[in-house]
Amino acid sequence: MSPEEFRRYGKQVVDWIADYLSTIESYPVGARTRPGEVRAALPAHPPEQGEPYEKVLEDVSRVIMPGITHWQHPSFFAFFPSNASGPAILGDLLSSGLGVQGLVWAASPASTELETVVVDWLAELLGLPARFRTDSTGGGVIQDSASSSALVALLAALHRTSGGEIRAGGITRRYTLYVSSQTHSALEKAARITGIGADNVRVVDVDPLTLAMDPGHLRSLVTEDIAAGAVPAMVCATVGTTSTTAIDPVAAIGPVCAEHGIWLHIDAAYAGVAAICPELRWINDGVAEYADSYATNPHKWLLTNFDCGVLWVADREAVTGALSIMPEFLRNQASDSGEVIDYRDWQVPLGRRFRALKLWSVIRWYGAEGLRQHLRTMVSLGDEFAALVSADPDFEVRPHHPFGLVCFRPLWTDEETMALLERLNDSGELYLSHTRVAGRVFLRMAIGAPSVTSDHIAKAWATIRRISRDMRPA
Ligand SMILES: *Cc1c(COP(=O)(O)O)cnc(C)c1O
Repeated sequence: MSPEEFRRYGKQVVDWIADYLSTIESYPVGARTRPGEVRAALPAHPPEQGEPYEKVLEDVSRVIMPGITHWQHPSFFAFFPSNASGPAILGDLLSSGLGVQGLVWAASPASTELETVVVDWLAELLGLPARFRTDSTGGGVIQDSASSSALVALLAALHRTSGGEIRAGGITRRYTLYVSSQTHSALEKAARITGIGADNVRVVDVDPLTLAMDPGHLRSLVTEDIAAGAVPAMVCATVGTTSTTAIDPVAAIGPVCAEHGIWLHIDAAYAGVAAICPELRWINDGVAEYADSYATNPHKWLLTNFDCGVLWVADREAVTGALSIMPEFLRNQASDSGEVIDYRDWQVPLGRRFRALKLWSVIRWYGAEGLRQHLRTMVSLGDEFAALVSADPDFEVRPHHPFGLVCFRPLWTDEETMALLERLNDSGELYLSHTRVAGRVFLRMAIGAPSVTSDHIAKAWATIRRISRDMRPA
C-alpha cells in the first residue's frame, strides 16, 4: 500500500470510526451472534492474491459488526469499562504509523523518554509517593495489563526476598503469596507462572460486610507460615476489587509487611485512577507509607484505549535484577553507559509498543481537570443509579464505593436473577454482568462509557424495572 493509497483508505477508516461513534446508540449493546456464526461467514482459506481494501471494509460492516459487543455504547455497563477516546485512538494510530519497536532506549529514544515523562506525570496526578518516580529510586513502566504488572511485581519481590538467588538457582524454597478471596485471579496465575505454585497462595479472610482483607488474619497466616519454614514473598492488597470494588486496608496491611520485610503490591487496576480527584485520594491511604509497587490501568476508566496498564515500583533495581538480560545482539553504548532506561528489563517480553503516545495524547487533550470531570461524572451517575434502585422495595443494593460500580439484585432466587440478566442483555437495550457476594448473585452496573449521561441511567433503570415486572408481575 503506497502512502497515497494509505491516505485515501486512512481517511475512509477515520470517517468510518467517527460515523460509528456518532451512531453507536443505534446498535444493540450486546452482540447477538451464536457461537461459530462469525467464523462460518468468513472464508476458511486466506486469499492467494491481494484484494482491494474496500473489500475488507465491506466485510467489517457485513460480518464483523454483527458480532461486536459495543463497549463504548453509553448503555454498556458490564465488567469494568474499557473506555476509549478520540485522543487515545489518534495516539494509537500515531504509534502504529511510526511503527517503532522500543525494545531498548537506542531502538528509538523518544519512545522510552516519553514513557518516563508520562508515567511520572501520572504518578503526580495520582499523588503517588516520590519514591515511585524515575528521579528517585523507583519508576513507572507501561505494561499491557494489570496481570503483567502483578507478575512483574511478584518476580521483583521474589528477587528481593531471595537475595537474588532465584535468578540462577530458581525456586528452591517454599515461597508464599497473600491475597484475599476477592483478589483478582491474575495473582494466582502469577504464582503459577513464577513457580510459587497455587498451593502457596494463601487466602486471607475478608470482612463479611465490606469484603476488605482482614489484617489480623493476614498477620496470623504470615506468622504460621514463617514458623512452618515458608518465606512470605508478597502481599497483594487491592484498591477496588473486580467483583464489588472493595478496598483492602493498606494502612493496616502495610505494618505486617514492613515487620517481616514482605513486598506489598497494590492492585488498583480499575479504581486507582480515581485518585486523580483530590477528594478521592483517601483510597490510597497507606500506599505512601508502605507500598513497594502499585498498578493501575488507564485502559479501564481513564479514556485510554486498551492496552495501557501502568506499574510503579519503589525500587527499580528489584525489577531489573529479576528481569535484565543482555544478549550480544542488544548491546549498545547507551545501555552500557547506564545513562538510559531500557524498559525491556521491566517487563516479560522484549519488544514493546509505543503506548506512551496514547496516554500522553489523553492527558494533554483532557488535562487534569478534564480527567477529573470525567471521573466525577461517572461517580455521580453511580450514586444516581444506586438511589433509583434503593427506592424500589423489590431490589437490594450493596453499599458502594465512589467508583461508578453498583451491585444490586432483585429479591429473588439466584436462578431468577440470572434469568433476568439474560433477558436484559438479550433486549439489546443495555448490557450488564454479574458477580456473587456471600453466595448470592448480584447484578453489576459499571458506569464508565465516555458518552453515558443521566438519561442513559434513567433509561437503564426503566428497562430493568419493565423486564423484571414482565418476568414477575407484582
Ligand atoms: C481488571 C482487573 C485486573 C486485570 O486487568 P488486566 O489489565 O486485564 O490484566 C486485575 N485486577 C483488578 C482489581 C482488576 O479489576
